[in-house]
Amino acid sequence: MELTQKPSKVNAMADASKAVFYFGKDGAEGNASMKSILGGKGANLAEMISIGIPVPPGFTVATTVCGKFYEAGKKLPETVWQDVLKNVSRLEIELNKKFGDVKNPLLLSVRSGARASMPGMMDTILNLGLNDETTAGLALISNNPRFAYDSYRRFIQMYSHVVMNMNGSILDIELEDLKDARKIQNDTDLTAEELKKLCDSFKKKVFENTGKRFPTDPIEQLRGAISAVFESWNTPRAITYRKLHEIPESWGTAVNVQAMVFGNRGDDSATGVAFTRDPSTGEKKFFGEFLVNAQGEDVVAGIRTPQSITKIDSEKASKDSGKKLPSLEEIMPQAYKQLVEIYHKLEKHYRDMQDIEFTIEQNVLWMLQTRTGKRSAEAAVRIAIEMLGEKLITEQEALMRVEPQQLDQLLHPTLDPKAQKNQIARGLPASPGAACGQIVFTPEEAEKFSEAGKKCILVRVETSPEDIHGMIVAQGILTSRGGMTSHAAVVARGMGKCCVAGCSEIEVDIDRQELHAKGHVLKKGDIITLDGSTGEVFLGEVKTVEPRLSGNFDALMTLADKYRRLGIEANADTPHDARVARKFGAEGIGLCRTEHMFFDAERIDAVREMIVAENKADREKALAKLLPMQRSDFIQLFEEMKGFPVTIRLLDPPLHEFVPQADAEIEVLADKLGVELGRLKSKVKSLHEFNPMLGHRGCRLAVTYPEIYAMQARAIAEAAAELELKKGFTIIPEIMIPLINTAKEFHMMRQLVETEVNKVKKQTGAQFKYLVGTMIELPRAALTADEIAIEADFFSFGTNDLTQTTLGLSRDDAGKFLGNYVQAGLFEKDPFVSIDQRGVGQLVKLAVDLGRKSKPNLKVGVCGEHGGDPASVEFFHRAGLDYVSCSPYRVPIARLAAARAAIQK
Ligand code: PEP
Ligand code: MG
Repeated sequence: MELTQKPSKVNAMADASKAVFYFGKDGAEGNASMKSILGGKGANLAEMISIGIPVPPGFTVATTVCGKFYEAGKKLPETVWQDVLKNVSRLEIELNKKFGDVKNPLLLSVRSGARASMPGMMDTILNLGLNDETTAGLALISNNPRFAYDSYRRFIQMYSHVVMNMNGSILDIELEDLKDARKIQNDTDLTAEELKKLCDSFKKKVFENTGKRFPTDPIEQLRGAISAVFESWNTPRAITYRKLHEIPESWGTAVNVQAMVFGNRGDDSATGVAFTRDPSTGEKKFFGEFLVNAQGEDVVAGIRTPQSITKIDSEKASKDSGKKLPSLEEIMPQAYKQLVEIYHKLEKHYRDMQDIEFTIEQNVLWMLQTRTGKRSAEAAVRIAIEMLGEKLITEQEALMRVEPQQLDQLLHPTLDPKAQKNQIARGLPASPGAACGQIVFTPEEAEKFSEAGKKCILVRVETSPEDIHGMIVAQGILTSRGGMTSHAAVVARGMGKCCVAGCSEIEVDIDRQELHAKGHVLKKGDIITLDGSTGEVFLGEVKTVEPRLSGNFDALMTLADKYRRLGIEANADTPHDARVARKFGAEGIGLCRTEHMFFDAERIDAVREMIVAENKADREKALAKLLPMQRSDFIQLFEEMKGFPVTIRLLDPPLHEFVPQADAEIEVLADKLGVELGRLKSKVKSLHEFNPMLGHRGCRLAVTYPEIYAMQARAIAEAAAELELKKGFTIIPEIMIPLINTAKEFHMMRQLVETEVNKVKKQTGAQFKYLVGTMIELPRAALTADEIAIEADFFSFGTNDLTQTTLGLSRDDAGKFLGNYVQAGLFEKDPFVSIDQRGVGQLVKLAVDLGRKSKPNLKVGVCGEHGGDPASVEFFHRAGLDYVSCSPYRVPIARLAAARAAIQK
């Protein structure tokens, strides 16, 4: 095939009504900036043409047609169809072939291509235009009947499945049966004659199963294929993927129609996929896989064991497997050299790691796709920092290249190298991290396990896009087939999920629900552990260790700190939490929930004694026991956070949370406290509330029992005094009052705290300063924030309670039905995870404005769970908060999210 490329001359800006965009020897009608119209694939094909990279000519039917297709009741508008036909004629002229011609047929590929990449989610049809006559013509003109009939059988398989909705496995099984009967493993070993017979039998099967004849008219085939690709925008798996990746339904997909180039034309032909850097580790090395005499999806689908592109990788693979498969570098050196030049050019042009697809037809290289490569978190960080070092990107770009949420993958435990391990198999390290769970063999089982709160590992021969719902809920994924670019590997990496792929040492029997490895027969429910970084599979549960972060990670964090305006603090209740928080770069404690200190085995009895006390004197006696314990807690916390702010919240939960509810336990407690059983039972009963979250909790406890807050304020003050007087460093404790509703309430609490702290200062002679501030977690407090700010030294939004009280959704009960709300699209996201910007967010903004009206320098932060959610962090940045406080493990995520928010602004 003679396809010559020239740099773009035709680069017309799209007019809004234009539906079909051509690309070919005279350049392209689109470019990379037109992803919203051409989809990612179409835009990049056009761009590659314009920078002189060999791409088979073709045209893109715009994403805008997708909506019109559905509006017209799943029909292609006639004007669009006429444009398609015109562009087919253009292709015929450019290639000097004719669509449907029996002597020299033009054959086409039809592929989807949405604005955001959705790997494997939608459909592809290759070799379109073949029928009995054109196939005979192709056999003659190529002088290669095996190739012609191999292309035809592939076309029948794809078309009958994608367009005619026939169950794809029917023809797959027929092909497998033929190979078994012939005692061969690879389809490349089938002869032309066998393939020809197979095509006839395929067509019969299509008729038997669909009641329709396989279409012979290429024009009809083309119309059917374009429509089917548009329809594949709405398959359940595409919808699931869109939801997961927040891709709007309205975007639609484009359809790319291109002249075929054939990787299945013989041993001088091949097809492959590659990454310009290693997508697992980020290492700067060309990395990819290919198959000789193969087509399209063969590499990704794991039909045969793919070969490495580079010699060095193939040598490494042969060491591991004992089998030497030659590399592209060795068997097609010319094409390899050209591929290397192209990948350098593409990476430089796009200034990002590319994921490319190529085909070699009779030693001539063609590029079929380039797109930003999906990568593991480790790779994302390394690539961003290294590309910055190479001056390929700016600091701001480096920060925008790593999704904050992705960092989660790096911050989680890996397998303890010292732990006892029983390795039963080794596959490919497809997506890093460690995962442990019970084996399940189907995505449906994975969902069932997850609903029952059980952790599971999805074990498959190979995954397909239909498995996506199971992959989402599984802890990890294990497949026995497929390479580093297989569906399982690519999708797991994108999800940040641990995956071991292509583990040929295991045998998976889906029907019998068994996994065989090293003589073990494992069944559903048995526990295994995966190490996605080494590819190892272990029997049973293996211990894990905390992550160690790389120099690149530190570099990224330092860069984030340079750009962010928001301070990042942590929610930490213990010295250990505080240490972890500091390690991750927290600049203080934004919330210490003191009640967590009360649950300690040594203290809970004193707490209970305080609760059941009949009078103030008895209560004070119990509180006096707690005082030294609290004081030592605070001393440790202050020491750990030396030089950083520590915000201590006074007691918040309703008291019933501290007393046992079961009769037997109440009896034991009565004994321990020397209280009469009946009296204790009635006390426990009296603490019961119908809506405890809206009941006797927060500062309301201190209105009834001021001595509780007085003890806590004294413990904080004594700790500060001891550090100042004995250890010689001063800290400024920030004392925080929960669940404030009114300015009067706050006034009362402030007086209570001040009285106690000032008493300690007077008694000890200590000089430390301290702040008394409030949480804003009730709508009334937000609405009257100007009044509260007159006396409050700081605000911290308790967005967990503020969400609960603004939306009228119980924190304890909403879990049961919130999922349905998200699924039905009533909430975009769970409002307890990502702040409801339109509702709760308005209250936050209002309270910030009102508060600062009264006190322009009022320090304002947030300490609800939203402080670690990237989208919420971005919102808090815009709302003008001073800091966010989140769980220690989310501190790096918040640091990066805050930097990105500042850059985006
Ligand atoms: C909040 O309500 O957001 C908060 C941080 O407090 P808690 O979760 O302890 O109620
Ligand atoms: Mg709260």
